[in-house]
Amino acid sequence: MSSSLPSHERWGRLDAKRVLVRADLNAPVAATNGVLTVTDDFRLRQCVPLLQDLQSRGADVVVCTHFGRPAGHVVDEYRVTPLRQRLNELCPGVTLLENLRFFPGEEANDYNFGATLIDGFDYYINEAFGASHRAHASIMVPPTLVPSAAGPNLQRETETLLSLLQSPFRPFVAIVGGAKVKDKLALVRVLSEKADTVIVGGGMAYTFALAEGRSIGESLVDESFVDECAELLSTGRVLIPHDARGLRSGQSFGRGGPDPVVNFGANIPSDSMGLDIGPESASQFVKVIETAATILWNGPMGVFEDPRFIQGTAAIARAVAASSASSVVGGGDSVAALQSLGLHDEVSFVSTGGGASLELVEHGDLPGLRALRESPWNS
Ligand code: AMP
Repeated sequence: MSSSLPSHERWGRLDAKRVLVRADLNAPVAATNGVLTVTDDFRLRQCVPLLQDLQSRGADVVVCTHFGRPAGHVVDEYRVTPLRQRLNELCPGVTLLENLRFFPGEEANDYNFGATLIDGFDYYINEAFGASHRAHASIMVPPTLVPSAAGPNLQRETETLLSLLQSPFRPFVAIVGGAKVKDKLALVRVLSEKADTVIVGGGMAYTFALAEGRSIGESLVDESFVDECAELLSTGRVLIPHDARGLRSGQSFGRGGPDPVVNFGANIPSDSMGLDIGPESASQFVKVIETAATILWNGPMGVFEDPRFIQGTAAIARAVAASSASSVVGGGDSVAALQSLGLHDEVSFVSTGGGASLELVEHGDLPGLRALRESPWNS
C-alpha cells in the first residue's frame, strides 16, 4: 500500500512553479533575552533535503506548519517567527506561512480554508507524517485540488512501520509502556495479533496486574479496562512485570525526591504505588528482547523522568540498542530515554510522529495518506 504513495520525482523540472509543502515544524522554543528561539531544530533539519531538492528543480517553495495549540486564534506566543528564522538559516529562499492553527478552518477541515491555502500553487507536498493522522484542512483539501505528493520523510516513516507489521522477521517482540492503559490498549490488541510477544510495562501494566488478581496498591489503574486486559493476557502472548519499584503513597515523584525507593514483589501493599518495573522483570524482558529479530518499542517502563525510576526503561533501551534486530522506536518518551542514554543512533529507525505512528500501527492507514492516494491528480 505504501509504495502507491505518489512522489514528487515524477514532476521533473519545476521552473517558475509554486509548490506548497505541508511540514511539521512544531519544534520546542525557549526565550533568551525575551526573544524566542528554537532549542531543538531536528524537525526543521529533516525537512531541508526536500526543500533544497525542490529549489534545485527551479520551484518557488512555500512551507506551512502548525505550531502549538492556539485553537483557532492568533496567539503571539505561537507565531512562527522563531521557526521562520531558523528555517531561513538552514534553507535560504523558502517562505514560511503563519501558523495554520491560527485559523479555525484548519482543525475544522474546512474546505474553503484549504482551498484558499492552496490557491495560486501548482503543486502540494505532504511532508508532515506527525500531522497525517489528523483530518485537518491543510492535510486533506490540497490533494483534491492540485497534483500532490508524499515527501520523502512521510514515505520513509510509513514504509518502515507498515513493512514491519506486514512482514516482520521473527521472533517479533513489541514493547509497549506509558501511563494510561486507555491510550495504548488498542495498540496492545493489534500487536498481540502480529507480534510473537508483547511486553507491557509502565503505569498501564497495573491494570493488567489487577486483571491477574494481584494487588496493586495505589498504582495507576483504570478499572473499566480490567476485562479487556484479562482477555489479552489469555492470548498467552502478553508479558507483564511481576515485580516493581516504587514509593509509599503520598510521597512525591516526577523529577526526583528524597523518599527512598521500595522494592515490591508480585503484590503491591495498599499503602504503596509502583513507579517502575522491578529488577527481575527487567532481566526477564531483556532476555526476551535478546531473542528478537524485529523490535517495536513505544513508551517507558516507569516514571523515567525521575532518576530513581529510570532503571527499567534504561534496561530496555540498552537491550534494544544492543540487539541486531530490526528495531523501530516511536513515541517522544522512548526516544527521549534513548537520547538521555546516548543510544539514539543504535536503533534502526526512530519514528518522529508519536500519535501518527500509533494510529498507523493500529489502523494500517492514516487520513493524510488516504488523501494523497485518492487524489484525482495522481495519474
Ligand atoms: P505516555 O505518554 O502514555 O507514553 O506515558 C508516558 C508517561 O508515563 C511518562 O511521563 C511516565 O512518567 C509515565 N509513567 C510511566 N510509568 C508510570 C507509572 N508506573 N506510574 C505513573 N506514571 C508512569
